[in-house]
Amino acid sequence: MQELNFKQELTGCFGQPIAENPSQAMVEAAYRHHGLDWRYLTIEVGAAGLADAVRGARAMGFRGFNCTIPHKVAVIEHLDGLAESASVIQAVNCVVRDGDRLIGENTDGKGFLSSLGRIESPAGKRVVVFGAGGAARAICVELALAGAARVTIVNRTVAKAEVIAKTIRENTAADAVATEWQGDYRLPPETDIVVNSTSIGLFPDVDARLAIDFDTLTPSMVVADVIINPPRTHLINTAEQRGCRVIDGLGMLVEQGVVGIQLWSGVEADPGVMRRELEAIFG
Ligand code: NDP
Repeated sequence: MQELNFKQELTGCFGQPIAENPSQAMVEAAYRHHGLDWRYLTIEVGAAGLADAVRGARAMGFRGFNCTIPHKVAVIEHLDGLAESASVIQAVNCVVRDGDRLIGENTDGKGFLSSLGRIESPAGKRVVVFGAGGAARAICVELALAGAARVTIVNRTVAKAEVIAKTIRENTAADAVATEWQGDYRLPPETDIVVNSTSIGLFPDVDARLAIDFDTLTPSMVVADVIINPPRTHLINTAEQRGCRVIDGLGMLVEQGVVGIQLWSGVEADPGVMRRELEAIFG
């Protein structure tokens, strides 16, 4: 008789709305590829249900779970501790079970750094980040912790950019400034890395354009976009036409998935398998 085991290890994502989140397809492709009998469930959880959902995850022995809108900050009070960057960012998108404890991590910024690191190191670089929401916060803090010389945060609501700039100045060695986004932003010629971390360009508003003077994009710049759907945004297309090296939003999504799987299972997942799954979905 052989030993039988029908019990799968559980992971997943809590959020609302959640139906269009493609993480399940991407992560389960990696589980299959690496022979892990694990599941990643896409679970609709509203704000009022978060405490019970976390309690349920504890009771059911989840190995971990991702949190997306609207839980990235609210989940913190239900956890037993925070990893370093999650503590600085004050937002959690990935919860990891460590024995009986649930620890909050932030893999958004780490995922961004990994995708950027495939073509450029942020050390000593001058970065301009558009947006000051949750994604921007994670990206800006990780860029600063990775040694960026200067982070300029450009946002419509300048007060939110100022909060991120202050966090960076107080917790890292990087210089950080906030700029109000008015009219078409002219990128300073010494800019090395440009990041769109706003939701501009997200389906269905796929023709929406960032207010940038695109003539100030030069071939020496690396241009990254966080938008997943569609991955080929107006910014990515324009930057590529102008000779910039580009990184689309799938890069960040895949790499934060790689970090999450590593934290949950210890397995170094193959990013190529995960990216191909997403490309099949988004075309
Ligand atoms: P938030 O709602 O927290 O922030 C949105 C940001 O976009 C704010 O800075 C907001 O400015 C700005 N913004 C939105 N619309 C406009 C506009 N018309 N003009 C100027 N600024 C605008 O969202 P998140 O930070 O959580 O997410 C941002 C994007 O990142 C989403 O599209 C999300 O899907 C994507 N994302 C991608 C990930 C990936 O792995 N690729 C991971 C996480 C997020 P203001 O503050 O003035 O309102």
